[in-house]
Formats: sequence, C-alpha cells, structure tokens
Amino acid sequence: MPSARPTVTAADFLPPTDDLGELAAAADACRGCDLFEHATHTVFGAGPVGARMMLVGEQPGDQEDRRGEPFVGPAGRLLDTALREAGIDRAPLYVTNAVKHFKFVPAERGTRRIHKTPSRTEVVSCRPWLLAELRVVDPEVIVCLGATAAKALLGNDFRLTAHRGEVLRLTEKWGEAADPAVVATLHPSAVLRGPADAREDALASLVSDLRFAADLLST
Ligand code: URA
Ligand code: SF4
Repeated sequence: MPSARPTVTAADFLPPTDDLGELAAAADACRGCDLFEHATHTVFGAGPVGARMMLVGEQPGDQEDRRGEPFVGPAGRLLDTALREAGIDRAPLYVTNAVKHFKFVPAERGTRRIHKTPSRTEVVSCRPWLLAELRVVDPEVIVCLGATAAKALLGNDFRLTAHRGEVLRLTEKWGEAADPAVVATLHPSAVLRGPADAREDALASLVSDLRFAADLLST
C-alpha cells in the first residue's frame, strides 16, 4: 500500500524552537489535519523537560479534550493505577499522545462522543509535534501505550502482539535526540475495554511492561 502523504501537516505550524511552552502554544493553532475542527482543545504533552521516561498514548479522549491535558480521564486513572502498581511516580514522567486532537463520532442517541481511532494520515500529519517533544525532552526510555503510538514511532508494520515488552529502537533517528530504548505495551483503554475476565491479566501485563521500561533507566 502506498504510504499516506498528507500535503499539509503539523510541520507547517511548527515553530523553530526548543521551548515546550512555545511548541504547545503553536500546537493550539495547528490545522495540520481536519481533527482540530470538532475538538475543543489541542492536548499537548505534559511533564518536565529532561524527563527520563516518556509515555506516548494514542490521542486525547473525551475528558482530555475538555480539560486540555493528557490521560486525565478513565484511561488516565487506569494508567495511574498501573504506574502505582509498578512503583513509578508519574510526576517526573513526560506524558503525551501520538495525535493531539480528539477524534470522535457523536453517539447515535444522546450527547456522548465516541472515540474513533485516528487514521494513518492523521498520525503522520501530527507526528512533527511528537518528534519535537522527543527532541526537546530527550528521554532515555519511551513507552508506547498501544499500537497507534508504537506505529507512529516504529513504523506502520509494527505489530504490538509480536513485540510487546521488548527493548526496541526508533526506526529513524529523529533530530539530535539520543537513541532512546522503546518499549511497546498495551493501551490502558485496552485493559478497560477488554473482557472482564481478562482484565486482571491485561493490567498485570501493562504493569510488568512499565516496570521493565523503568528498569532500563541507567541509574
Ligand atoms: N487515551 C489516550 O491515548 N490518551 C489520552 O490522553 C487519553 C486516553
Ligand atoms: Fe494538528 Fe495534530 Fe490536531 Fe491534526 S491532530 S490539527 S496535525 S495537532
């Protein structure tokens, strides 16, 4: 399949700066794909420059879209539980998403907004923000939460089921960033949405992958 090559991308809105605040402000005005039209906020990453570990999710959900912060809704609470069980403090981590705007379809009845997986074109359009965050934060370890994040950083052929919990490397070296270790694991929503009898095992996998990733940090 030919790779999707959008003509306008986030790169057209990316300022030449290493300041995360300036990058976030510029992302607020991004029109790199159509997703800005219906979403409330751009949800940029959150966390300190120099964070040693970076978590990358898929895209903001309903509550993240309303609040403008990543992983603050149900998936965020599950992530917090998993981090706690893994013995990892969230505060020093940089937490972001592959796509910065919420993609959804309205529920057939009522006012709920139903999450829709971003397309490859949208992921590619938005990737300049993620790569800028990667360059500026310069983490030692990246954890991809779910297939969308993993494909954004490891290529569209990446298969989570085949490589979950392994030490991987970025497919390309982005900018001046060092060569961080990459670990791909389940998305917290997959734990929430999965069958009830499999939830405990899924959570245990997420926890052990997070612990494995944290253990890769050279002390
Ligand atoms: N799911 C994600 O991938 N990211 C968020 O920020 C929230 C839910
Ligand atoms: Fe820009 Fe990404 Fe939002 Fe698309 S999803 S408008 S590329 S910030």
